[in-house]
Amino acid sequence: YIELKNINKSFGDFQASKDVNFAIEKGKLVGLLGPSGSGKTTILRMLAGLEHQDSGDICINGNVVNDLPSSQRGIGFVFQNYALFPYLTVYDNIAYGLKIQKKDKKFIKQRVTELLDLVGLPGLEKRYPDQLSGGQRQRIALARALAPNPEVLLLDEPFAAIDAKVRQELRTWLRETIDKIGITSIFVTHDQDEAIEVADEIIITNEGRVEQMGDPVEIYLHPKTPFVAQFIGKSS
Ligand code: ATP
Repeated sequence: YIELKNINKSFGDFQASKDVNFAIEKGKLVGLLGPSGSGKTTILRMLAGLEHQDSGDICINGNVVNDLPSSQRGIGFVFQNYALFPYLTVYDNIAYGLKIQKKDKKFIKQRVTELLDLVGLPGLEKRYPDQLSGGQRQRIALARALAPNPEVLLLDEPFAAIDAKVRQELRTWLRETIDKIGITSIFVTHDQDEAIEVADEIIITNEGRVEQMGDPVEIYLHPKTPFVAQFIGKSS
């Protein structure tokens, strides 16, 4: 369960988040959708504790996490680029967070095997990231994010750099994988079709504000503002 209450954030005199409010139920996959520069990544970074809001509260499972460092928020994230450490094998990439948690070797080995099965890439432990396709890299990035068993998963345009056909397969796969573990997730995209296809609910952002949140079909049929109507109606 995630809740953002009256979040404001400025960079210098530019306000990137304006009174952002929303709540996400446990286990839901929510698409954060909006034009470039509308504040999507800023929201994820504040949730992850990589950036601090100027005012407002962030709650995860009922606890205010404003003062908790990133490592203690129980969040896993997958970003578009620099997702994997290039100089580490697949095994060591996935094991990274578990080693920081000082898990024992046997546990780590078991968990890595389990995660490689989950993401559909068993046996790739010894490969390096440059020996994988773009799609495989993002699957491994997801395995790494899930390794420490986070409460919340944040994905920032994870498939943006991947070609259209593979991207389509990855969307379906992501949805199925998230359903299997039932983790509360936020997926950032500027692709309307992707958001509508993958998400349980959509949050539409514009110029730092949340314009509308709700069921994708409901938003499509009943946009609350002219911006939403224009943005969601536009084919990508
Ligand atoms: P995109 O789809 O292009 O990734 P976005 O919706 O994720 O865009 P953000 O990355 O959240 O948008 O950025 C929102 C605004 O805040 C942008 O205008 C950006 O230039 C500005 N911004 C973000 N981070 C910083 C920073 N560290 N310093 C100054 N300005 C920033």
